[in-house]
Amino acid sequence: MLRSPLLRRAVPLAMALWSVLPAFADDSCDVCMQWNEPVDPFRIYGNTFYVGAKGLSSLLVTSPQGHILIDGGLPESAPLIAQNIVALGFKFEDVKLILNSHAHFDHAGGLAELARESGAQVVTSPWSAMVLRSGGKFDAGDPQAGTLKRFPMWTHPQTVEDGQSVSVGGTQITAHYTGGHTPGGLSWTWQSCDNNNHCLNMVYADSLTPVAAPKFRFSKNKTYSNVLADFEHSFQLIDALPCDILITPHPDASALWARREAQEEGDTTNPYVDPQACHNYVAIARLALQKRLAEEQAGTVK
Ligand SMILES: [Zn+2]
Repeated sequence: MLRSPLLRRAVPLAMALWSVLPAFADDSCDVCMQWNEPVDPFRIYGNTFYVGAKGLSSLLVTSPQGHILIDGGLPESAPLIAQNIVALGFKFEDVKLILNSHAHFDHAGGLAELARESGAQVVTSPWSAMVLRSGGKFDAGDPQAGTLKRFPMWTHPQTVEDGQSVSVGGTQITAHYTGGHTPGGLSWTWQSCDNNNHCLNMVYADSLTPVAAPKFRFSKNKTYSNVLADFEHSFQLIDALPCDILITPHPDASALWARREAQEEGDTTNPYVDPQACHNYVAIARLALQKRLAEEQAGTVK
């Protein structure tokens, strides 16, 4: 018996997904249906599980006293995420906290429904909280301001300070302010342990891509004047984190599916473990920002 209405309609909604997304059938989000492709959930390490869709990460960090969910995908991802949590043998109602990386429709779109149906608290940065409360209408300072899709609002998110930890049971997760992609971006870190109490440093690093609305310039703007300083802070912070396993809001950015394939092919070492992953992620992000700044200077921004 599925107590939650969200779960009761999860299976049929997942099956009928392609026919119930008229909003994404237009040009406004060509890749949304690809992003929201269902995938079976799986354990990454210890008490950390992947419960997201193919192109949008959601993680479940479990404890006997309740669970923490990170990111909610698109509005249409919520039933898939709930279904994946149940498929792993956990109770959706045991999700106590839902954390967010950044308040864009593709990572925060499902938060409202997931929070309402599970009874969990949503936790994010003060800037992202303003976006969530407005359903994406508030976008001041966002490099992509004016071009982003709206999503269901969540009126009472909790906020965390830089370096603050949140916990459920014995599981503690720490927030790091890593702005740049948005003014309110958060990365989250925690430890997960296997049955032999071998513990690894887990990093959910926020998007670091310099994506912008047509008229926005990272090199000079009045709406997010700290953007380059925020990027530099984020690069340095993520590069210096204890980082055994990196997962990113878009899973391909940390090679999740290549690692999953290696695991399925019987790689006996855990292919998710990669102490160079955070360094590589930052190096690629630095190059992308340098390229963008060079284009701005040359006047060749498309
Ligand atoms: Zn984004």
